[in-house]
Amino acid sequence: MAHTRLILQALSPGQRLSRVRAAITQAEHLHARAPGSVRLLAVSKRQSADAIRELAALGQRDFGENYVQEAVAKQAELADLALCWHFIGRIQGNKTREIAAHFDWVHSLERVKHAQRLSAQRSDDRPALNLCLQINLEGEQSKGGLAPEQVAATAAAVAVLPRLRLRGLMTIPATHLDAAQQLAVFTRLHELQRELVRGGLNLDTLSMGMSADMEIAIVAGATMVRIGTALFGPRP
Ligand SMILES: *Cc1c(COP(=O)(O)O)cnc(C)c1O
Repeated sequence: MAHTRLILQALSPGQRLSRVRAAITQAEHLHARAPGSVRLLAVSKRQSADAIRELAALGQRDFGENYVQEAVAKQAELADLALCWHFIGRIQGNKTREIAAHFDWVHSLERVKHAQRLSAQRSDDRPALNLCLQINLEGEQSKGGLAPEQVAATAAAVAVLPRLRLRGLMTIPATHLDAAQQLAVFTRLHELQRELVRGGLNLDTLSMGMSADMEIAIVAGATMVRIGTALFGPRP
């Protein structure tokens, strides 16, 4: 692990991006996933606008940010690029207006009240804001997300709101899990998604998998992996 970290630090951003893309392609192939069915979201929190620009020059389009103020500052520096911005951090009620104005996706929705605000605040001249509900499958107190039994009612309430498009579910497993436990969590998220689809919702996104558990998430059906460290190296 320490060894891997040293090697990662020595790689250029282009080499890291090639490695991650190759790992996604290989996982799709090994686990009978359709080629191109897993989208790479580059998590750029605490990384500089220059680092984002380097990956954008190599064709990376999707970037994820956790902090609104930090994201808005970098977006201003990168306004000449056509990037797709994803908000993946904890939503604060007083930040929904800025989130609605500055992002294309939100992965971390957990309250209907926040969805109502985003719906009212999303401007008519922008496409609908894409949303995933964040699910907390292990009942970890320290972490955000809906309990599984809240998902159906919340999804139904969010799906009818104008200016929003409910796309799917997102989760962050606890850090101490082994591979079998990670697989169980990701598989449970996929099953919850299938239940919602059977109930009539048109969902196409499972946002799961980070640098340390990407392949397992792809096995379980991830359509979007959120990768920070493996792309940018350790966060400053
Ligand atoms: C930071 C973060 C990531 C990326 O994590 P890495 O381990 O650096 O790949 C993914 N998802 C969320 C919600 C994050 O906050």
